[in-house]
Amino acid sequence: MRNLTILGATGTIGRNTLDVTMRHPDRFRVVALAGGSRWEPMLELCRVHRPRYAALVAPDAAALLRERVKVEGLDCQVLAGERALAELAALDEVDTVMAAIVGAAGLAPTLAAARAGKRVLLANKEALVMAGGLFMETVRRHGAELLPIDSEHNAVFQSLPAGYDGELRRAGVRRILLTASGGPFRTMPLERFAAVTPDEACAHPNWVMGRKISVDSATMMNKGLEVIEAHWLFGAPASHIEVVIHPQSVVHSLVEYEDGSVIAQLGNPDMRTPIAHALSYPERIASGVSPLDLAAAGGLTFEKPDTRRFPCLALAYDALDAGQAAMIALNAANECAVARFLAGGLRFDHIPILIEAVVARTESGPVQSLDEALRLDAAARREATQWLERRAA
Ligand code: NAD
Ligand code: MG
Repeated sequence: MRNLTILGATGTIGRNTLDVTMRHPDRFRVVALAGGSRWEPMLELCRVHRPRYAALVAPDAAALLRERVKVEGLDCQVLAGERALAELAALDEVDTVMAAIVGAAGLAPTLAAARAGKRVLLANKEALVMAGGLFMETVRRHGAELLPIDSEHNAVFQSLPAGYDGELRRAGVRRILLTASGGPFRTMPLERFAAVTPDEACAHPNWVMGRKISVDSATMMNKGLEVIEAHWLFGAPASHIEVVIHPQSVVHSLVEYEDGSVIAQLGNPDMRTPIAHALSYPERIASGVSPLDLAAAGGLTFEKPDTRRFPCLALAYDALDAGQAAMIALNAANECAVARFLAGGLRFDHIPILIEAVVARTESGPVQSLDEALRLDAAARREATQWLERRAA
């Protein structure tokens, strides 16, 4: 029996996780659910999944949830605030933590899960981008187990030898190939990028996802963040990580070996596959995903990414080269830019311009602690806000 905390339970990954656990009540017990500010969907999850604990970061929302939980006689303790998330991630009675909060907000509770030696199922890629070295060191030092949920990284994990120890050369690996769908604007004429609306950017051709990661997919910053994520997860230098566009999203990523073998993981684009894989690893369980019908899929095509169309991808490689401080600035500036774009206050094609400007003003060097990472994150957000204010003036 695995006992779970789900961080980001009300989100897309959180709900997919609960969909899988519900299929196997004999294997999984949901102990704690945590989210940001929406109390109504959290109440509904409490009714259905009966967790012992539920937490919301927003105090007012948590108070409303606490009241309703009491009125309905649910046996659930409601907590509030950021610290509560870290507490639920480190509960003694929990062995497995799904880290599916979006953005930098997920870093502290995800680190807390690693520090408590849990099995960490990592969807929150921003945490690794912000503090990859620190996070991997924490996992090692505290004997935590890290399993990737991001479909590409889960595919790479499945395509690497069992017990892979972070040394590409020792495993005989030549390259890691991350596939990218190219998002909704893969073939759109470049001159139309200026007028792209938030809803157009969020209409991903193959995946249903939260709005932030959907915009990241449209700019291909998502793939840039994933290159950095692969670097930390698999100990791979940037020169050994390549991106290939694959519009059908059936091949989820590949590993190329010295002898010329290329091993890939395939499947329908449905996050319940990597979630089920990581939940039950090393066993296999049903996920609810329909079987892949290769004949119906028809052609699988591949092409090189165009960094003129997707400058964010190149910005991410540059940040990886420049070091941890630049990666923090890249991520923070991107979060600010995407939030402003989604609010209707920034043009789609200005997202990379803002990010490049913020990263260029960043101090360089390694990052030793969570406090330092959070300080650099805050500094980059201030730069981004000033850039946006100058633009508006
Ligand atoms: P989502 O927007 O659907 O859900 C986000 C969750 O985070 C919600 O539960 C929300 O309450 C919570 N949250 C938001 N802000 C918060 C804050 N400040 N503090 C605490 N909680 C907060 O997003 P999603 O699509 O589920 O993505 C979640 C993470 O998983 C992201 O890091 C994303 O990059 C990653 N991911 C998602 C997919 C996918 O298919 N959706 C695939 C790969 C990786
Ligand atoms: Mg992905």
